[in-house]
Amino acid sequence: MAANCIFCKIIKGRRPLAEQFPKADYPINPLSYGHTLIIPKHHGAKLTDIPEEHLTELLPIASRIAKASGAENYNVLQNNGRLAHQEVDHVHFHLIPKPNETEGLG
Ligand code: 5GP
Ligand code: ZN
Repeated sequence: MAANCIFCKIIKGRRPLAEQFPKADYPINPLSYGHTLIIPKHHGAKLTDIPEEHLTELLPIASRIAKASGAENYNVLQNNGRLAHQEVDHVHFHLIPKPNETEGLG
């Protein structure tokens, strides 16, 4: 837990049953319908700042969320550093479903 880290606060507020798992949450500025953040419990600013064992469970969760979204097209994105468009300094993956053209913007 890092002081003043918004994602640590989100993690801390989750239900006890999910305690050992990473957290999936919706961003405040979603890029598309279903845009989800997968956030490890362990605090670290960048991918290279947290132990590898805390990373291994994140992509399977992204895969499950992608399946559950039913999207045929989607991006998995992970930004590190301001020049790479990282806004929140707690590692996270974005799962961004891409709607079909008939489903509107996204
Ligand atoms: P980054 O640019 O760091 O890869 O992505 C940061 C993400 O965190 C963005 O999608 C942004 O909307 C989201 N975000 C920033 N602050 C908050 C917050 O307080 N709550 C939630 N749920 N998402 C946030
Ligand atoms: Zn944090």
